[in-house]
Amino acid sequence: MRAGSGLGVSCSVMTGSVSDGAVLLTTPVEALGDVSAELGAALRGMGLRSVGHLVHHLPHRHEREEAETTIGDLAGDAVVSTRGEVTACRFVGGRGRGKARFEAVLLDGTGRLDVVWFNQPYLRHKIEPGMWLRVQGKSKMKRTGVQIVNPRWWVLKEGEREVRGGGEARLRPVYPATEEAPSWMIERVIVGVLDEALGQIDDHLSEGYRGERSMPSLAEAYRMMHRPADEEEIGVARRRLVYDELLMMQLGVQMRRAKVAKEMHAPALRWSEAIDAHIRARFPFTLTEAQETVVQEIARDVQKSVPMHRLIQGDVGAGKTVVALYAMLMAVASEHQAALMAPTELLAEQHFASISAMLEGGSVRIALLTGSLSAPEREGILARLGAGEIDLLVGTHSVLTESVRFASLGVVVIDEQHRFGVHQRAQLREKSGNRYSMPHTLVMTATPIPRTLALTAFGDLDVSVLRGLPPGRKPVATRMLPSARAEEAYAFVRMRVEKGQQAYVVVPAVDSDGGLKDVRSTVRKLEAGALAGKRVAGVHGRLKRATREQIMERFRGGLIDVLVATTVIEVGVDVANAAVMVVEHADRFGLAQLHQIRGRIGRGTHSSACVLIVDEGATEIGMERVKALVGTTDGFVIAEKDLELRGMGEVLGVRQAGMAPFRLADLSRDLDLLRMARRDAIAWIARSPRLEAPEEALLKRRLAKAFVDGGEKTDV
Ligand code: ADP
Ligand code: MG
Repeated sequence: MRAGSGLGVSCSVMTGSVSDGAVLLTTPVEALGDVSAELGAALRGMGLRSVGHLVHHLPHRHEREEAETTIGDLAGDAVVSTRGEVTACRFVGGRGRGKARFEAVLLDGTGRLDVVWFNQPYLRHKIEPGMWLRVQGKSKMKRTGVQIVNPRWWVLKEGEREVRGGGEARLRPVYPATEEAPSWMIERVIVGVLDEALGQIDDHLSEGYRGERSMPSLAEAYRMMHRPADEEEIGVARRRLVYDELLMMQLGVQMRRAKVAKEMHAPALRWSEAIDAHIRARFPFTLTEAQETVVQEIARDVQKSVPMHRLIQGDVGAGKTVVALYAMLMAVASEHQAALMAPTELLAEQHFASISAMLEGGSVRIALLTGSLSAPEREGILARLGAGEIDLLVGTHSVLTESVRFASLGVVVIDEQHRFGVHQRAQLREKSGNRYSMPHTLVMTATPIPRTLALTAFGDLDVSVLRGLPPGRKPVATRMLPSARAEEAYAFVRMRVEKGQQAYVVVPAVDSDGGLKDVRSTVRKLEAGALAGKRVAGVHGRLKRATREQIMERFRGGLIDVLVATTVIEVGVDVANAAVMVVEHADRFGLAQLHQIRGRIGRGTHSSACVLIVDEGATEIGMERVKALVGTTDGFVIAEKDLELRGMGEVLGVRQAGMAPFRLADLSRDLDLLRMARRDAIAWIARSPRLEAPEEALLKRRLAKAFVDGGEKTDV
């Protein structure tokens, strides 16, 4: 989807034709008097094919243009602007001493100006005697007269040659440009058609609507962008255009959502105090206040036949699993099925183990579906799922993509959303047997999604936030050590192990390759050295599931002191007695990933510590990530930092989810406008779900275009 491209210019008022002298938005650029064949080709190459495209081609900034002075009135040591005829010019090559320079003499009848450009030899093909130029730059008084070095320059047309003095300073648009179509040429073409073109632009927002928001009309906004009277106008115009871009996106999201709500049904689940009590009796602790709130939000959602789409955002260890389990058990209580999907087999196995433990002795039939099952085991589970003989399925995300059929899927929980694109949710539809039925969906993410992203990429999800940690959990003390001092970290590990605690050592590789520390050799080295006499074992994703499980089981049972692991432990591993962690090559890991990894400790009552070891030659950005982690344990702060370091598109697979970058909006500064657009879009679609009123026709057309075009520039 591409918002923004659809801030189209209307073609509904097409009257007249080029031959009548009327400039239409659909007029090809080549048909304009000012546009040479060469320029026309250059504009076309930039995607600017029609007058409408030109109006949409917004300056990326504005530059102050000084009031013009006649040459005779020029003073030294000031930024000045003047114009004159080129009467002589020459290129002086850069051999020997002296830089290559291009010199021109300008006369305007009031005086003589010498202009010099250094290191721009191509100017000799651009500027020649007889041309009129406007130049702007810093003036200097020389013995010979006034001189300007390296000014900005513009070629003047026939009608612009009269000498000007006085006038006012103005803001000049600077357009995205190329060498063949420089900004000043684009400006000249736009100036020539702007007023007439603007008269043809209809607004898709009514005057009343704009008035309530103190926004100018679309035509005014474009005028202010191309020809602002002052700085303030640029701000006013930008606000309107950014709002439009965001509104389009949010309307699209809300329309899609309204359509799903109308056409798709989910089973309305039962809730009663008895059911509630029954579910809670399974939990080994009382829910925190934050968990209570989210449980209530979920219980309210799933009692409706409108499919729930809810995102639970909560830091590592915030206690999301039990909240998800509540939703799943509601499905089971209503004789539907539930599924929990995790991004890795290890995590699926752990969910399976902990949920099985909580449900032990009850009547809920639970199964684990992963890639490591034998074919007959797998067939058996699939058959029982289809027959409704399994109530709760735990699996990996592949459950979504494979031919798994449920008898009646009521609730789906997707753990760790950031590992895959949001579109996978669409596949859920086909899982429930009925084309118009869709399970209630709960997405859990342990990497807190910055608020900005939650409103955009996940704009059609309701968001619940689990703030804070369950009782008894303490933040992890984190420090950084250069690799030369790694022994200190292991001495510390040894000391803690001797106190009866356990530790993780995280390394980036399984096998030695590329000089990074790996699981196997690190195990050997530690056993022989710093941790001699301690029980050290290694675990990584390439081990067989049974082997891995066995090792994890031994670690959980306290039979292993130090577990050397790759990032397989990133998600879900929960061993309360493990309170120490060393991360080797910490600067090589992503920020969100480091936060996840660190989240494996600090789960028990011990005060826990994490040592991040950084390489000698760590990159600057690698160091920034490590420092961010040392500075805070607040996942929301880390998420914002991650966003800053990686950029919007990279974070959380938004690019993969098919969301185009914005044309104008910059979410780090337009958050208020985003909120406003979202609020307005929600209200709008609630009032008019399909935009079918006559006065909404234009908006609807532009919206359709924004979504259908996928960002392509189309003729208006
Ligand atoms: P995450 O949000 O990272 O998935 P978990 O659901 O794994 O977190 O919970 C983290 C730990 O906190 C688990 O050991 C869980 O049993 C424990 N926990 C969750 N809720 C509570 C609670 N209300 N009181 C005490 N411990 C809790
Ligand atoms: Mg979890």
